[in-house]
Parts: sequence; C-alpha cells; structure tokens
Amino acid sequence: MIQTIKLYDDKPYDREFTAKIINIAEAGEGFLDIVLDRTLFFPEEGGQTCDNGYICDLKVAHVSIDDGVITHRIQCAATALSEGEEVQGRIDWEHRFSNMQNHSAEHILSGLLHNIWGSENVGFHLSDNIVTLDTSKELEADEIKRLEKSANKVIYDNIPVDCRYYEPSELSAIEYRSKKELKEDVRLVTIPGVDVCACCAPHVSRTGEIGIIKIIKAIRYKGGMRFTFLAGCRAYDHITALQDMTDNVSHLLSVSSDKLDEAVSRLMKENEEYKIKLKNAAAAKLGQEIKALSKDSRNAVLFTDPIDNIVQRNAVNDLARSHSGVCAVFSSDGAGGYNYIISYPEGDARDIAKLMKEKLTSKGGGSKDMIQGNVKASEEEIRRVLDFQNE
Ligand SMILES: [Zn+2]
Repeated sequence: MIQTIKLYDDKPYDREFTAKIINIAEAGEGFLDIVLDRTLFFPEEGGQTCDNGYICDLKVAHVSIDDGVITHRIQCAATALSEGEEVQGRIDWEHRFSNMQNHSAEHILSGLLHNIWGSENVGFHLSDNIVTLDTSKELEADEIKRLEKSANKVIYDNIPVDCRYYEPSELSAIEYRSKKELKEDVRLVTIPGVDVCACCAPHVSRTGEIGIIKIIKAIRYKGGMRFTFLAGCRAYDHITALQDMTDNVSHLLSVSSDKLDEAVSRLMKENEEYKIKLKNAAAAKLGQEIKALSKDSRNAVLFTDPIDNIVQRNAVNDLARSHSGVCAVFSSDGAGGYNYIISYPEGDARDIAKLMKEKLTSKGGGSKDMIQGNVKASEEEIRRVLDFQNE
C-alpha cells in the first residue's frame, strides 16, 4: 500500500482536512480500519499517544502506523464508509496542542541535558496525563533546578522551531540526536542553540507557545534519572490544583500560605509532645492497675492505650514477680490491634505465642521467658483465647 501523506508534517496547526478512503478492513468487534490517502491524525509513535478526533463525525478510537501507512480505527457499521469516498476529518485540537507543547518541552530538556551534562535521552513517554523522560546521567538537586530554569529561559526567548526533512547527503554535515540509525530522509526538529533531534511528531512553531515547563518529579533510575514533567496547559492545570490545595490547607490551619511549612512543623512538634504525654499518662494508669490487681490470681492480663515499649516490658516483669500464670500487657497499636509482651513464669511463653498464632493469627515470638508481637483482635477476643488459664 502506498505511504500515507502526513499532513501534520507541514501543517501542524491545521485542525480539519479532506481525504480519500483508499482501504477499509474489518477489525472485529464492530471496528473498521480505515486508510486514507492523507491525514492530519498523528499515529501512536515514538513514545507519544495518537491524536483523537473524528472522521465523518465518527469517533476515531486509535491511529497506528506501519511502514509509512497510517490506519485509523473507527467503531461503525461496515456499510457506513466506502473505498474511494471523500471524507472530512477533524482532530481534537486541545489534545493535539497539549501534546505539541509537551513534546517540544521534551526536546528542550533533552537538548539542555545533552549540551550541559552530556546526558542522553534513553526513554520518553507522552501519555494523555503524564510525561516521563529517562536520561543516562544522575543529576543533583541543584542541577535539576538549573535544568528547569534554563528550559523556561528557552521559552522566554521564544525561539523559532524548525521541522523539515533532510536528504542523507545533507545529514553528514549536521550533528543531531537520534536513538536509531536512520537511512532514509530524516526529519529534524531544530531549536537553534538548544537542540537538533530526529523526530516525526508535530511541534510548536516557537518555544514561547510552550508557556511553562515544570519538573514535578525526578528520581534516580537505571543509573540515570527519570524526570516527570508537565508543560503548557498541563503545567497550568497542575499549578492551579496545587494552589487550590494550598489555599484549603492555609484556611484549615488559619495561616497565610507562605507560613504553611512553619505551621506544619509546629503541629508535628505539638503532636509528638501530646503522644509523649499520652504515653506517660497510660504508663501511670497501668501502674495503678498493676497495684490494684489481686495477688491471688494466677493470671494478670492488662490492656492499655499506647505506651512506651520499655514501660510495657517493665510492667510485664513486675506482673511476673507476683503471678505465676499468663502475665501480659497489650498496648494499643492505634490501628485496631495490640502490641503485646507476655511472660509465663510457670510454663513456656512460646506456647502462648503458638496458641495466639493459631487462634488469632498473631505475629511475633521470643524466648521461654518472654514473647512479644502484634495481634489484630479485640480485647474480648484475646481474653477469650487466654481464658484457658483463668480457672
Ligand atoms: Zn521528538
């Protein structure tokens, strides 16, 4: 089949087109695969998702390319379209322009990474909501800030972006980034002073149209970095959502947004202090309960609010001095269960661990003298299991 004319190569800003259907094939489940003589629909290619839109008011579900032939998958009756027919196509411009902004942004970041740090682009994925860029060298936090700032400077400079094909004879004199060894005519995307890269996708005509580039995440990945970034409308939406969240939190804490970090640090410190106070109060209450226990009972099983592990262990040792049966303190873990420490002076504490594991699927273990662990069960359920000793 003859290769499809890619209208988006020369006219990335066109939104509507007419074309002739040159092939129709049934694709199953009510889908038809349509090949046109020419198209504005960019197919899924080079890490970028395909364009959305309509052909004859029928929604295009997917666009793919194979050996230069672009196929549009459409859900419709087999009789809805016929070969030789002239059709109208319309791409989803908002989606396309967002992809152009984000793809051009990727070239700027990759070009800067290459020029400043000698880092190669080793992976790129432009989905409808997230853009990731994998590079070959690790960068420090201050370098990432420099990268982002330099990329936005390229936007302010509003540099023209040139996209065109070069013959192999011309290419030998040009230095450009490419992941593959290319033999045919190559389409180069040139941002003068920033980047030259082989690429098949539509780009903005000047860098100023990108608006903004925001790196929202940078992690070390396979010996290099994985950057997640947003550009243009997507970055604007992201920043707006963050602003809304900041405003809500400022309102909740009754502080201005520039004082939020101080306010949160203060709250965390207060929270830690309260936790210590609560643990101390629980320890004091536990001490009272230990005193109030009848010395005659064999078992001594107590439940408490969260307490310090050392206090809990000392309490169990106290109990074990005056009781011969199961001596246990269950301290609430704040998540519907208990952290336990158990001693069993007249037997082997590991038998109690075994029993609790069997009946309550508890976790933990220890020695003959003492066991500790966690159990997700209520006080009532635990007491019922340990009742075997309460004669
Ligand atoms: Zn590209």
